[in-house]
Amino acid sequence: MLNVYFAAGARMWPRYQAPLAQALAAAGVEAVVTEAAPADPAAVDYLIVANGGVVSDFAPFTGAKAVLNLWAGVEKLVGNDTLTQPLCRMVDPAMTESMVEYVTGHVLRHHLGLDRHILNADAVWMPETAPGPARARSVTVLGLGELGSACARMLAALNFRVTGWSRTPKSLPGIRCLSGDAGLAQALAEAQILVLLMPYTAETENLLNAERIASMPASAVVINPGRGPLIDDAALLAALDSGHLSNATLDVFRVEPLPADHAFWAHPKVTVTPHIAAETYPETAAVVVAENIRRAEVGEPLMYLVDRSRGY
Ligand code: NAP
Repeated sequence: MLNVYFAAGARMWPRYQAPLAQALAAAGVEAVVTEAAPADPAAVDYLIVANGGVVSDFAPFTGAKAVLNLWAGVEKLVGNDTLTQPLCRMVDPAMTESMVEYVTGHVLRHHLGLDRHILNADAVWMPETAPGPARARSVTVLGLGELGSACARMLAALNFRVTGWSRTPKSLPGIRCLSGDAGLAQALAEAQILVLLMPYTAETENLLNAERIASMPASAVVINPGRGPLIDDAALLAALDSGHLSNATLDVFRVEPLPADHAFWAHPKVTVTPHIAAETYPETAAVVVAENIRRAEVGEPLMYLVDRSRGY
């Protein structure tokens, strides 16, 4: 009987307890999953975590065969020197679907100029605001991983002119795929709507800085469901104030919850959503966790292993 320690926090436990039990049984894994801190950490076979949380020192878990993250992002785990066990991030089909819905919804909102009509308190008739077809709108997605590529595919299916950018070269049907510094310059130069879906690493911090924002087309829109530190906040606010950017829709922030006095809350060109773009869905995520435990037990390669040297 395996010991699995659910160290993703008491708040999550009621939602995960039954799905984990079902998924482990369906995978043929005999395990006891507990949320209480173990009396003997060395006896724990697997830990389930939530991008940090309950455990900060993984050293006592000497028998742990893997640390399984319920989050896609791992920035609060990769730098933890005590975490020497294999670390897996979450790729959850329902989370991917949620991200596609969030990104597509906000891209369509900005493409169609919906705010202008929904907030039309003065009842102005604005025939000049017809948005034109999606095929005339360029959308750039920075990050073409599980989430970015799924969003790019949906946007391309709606006929947007989609450019994607990633660290390594990619090839996706219907999407102009770029990489490298020159690729980023090209991707930004045409980004009427920019979507950030990269992890937070040493390399991606402040990737969207003043200079790169200035290279985007006038009146461009930024949508960030990736991570707050991808953007230089001061540069973003300056570009919104100058009118170079027309809107920023932000789901993630350097400090969360976003402090009540932060300029983003009151800014007329900023939409704040509270890190809700794509939550992990217990029923589908539990299947991924159970499958990874099954694999580890029979010596098969783990899915979604984090590469510590890359930081994601
Ligand atoms: P992923 O599959 O690991 O994809 C990451 C993408 O970013 C890859 O295409 C990667 O390039 C690219 N990338 C990483 N570092 C780069 C760099 N220095 N330069 C250029 N491209 C770089 O991750 P994912 O599952 O799509 O998730 C992406 C991020 O979304 C997560 O890390 C998390 O921060 C965020 N997220 C947010 C929410 C929310 O609710 N707001 C929910 C889930 C996830 P390669 O393909 O070349 O490796």
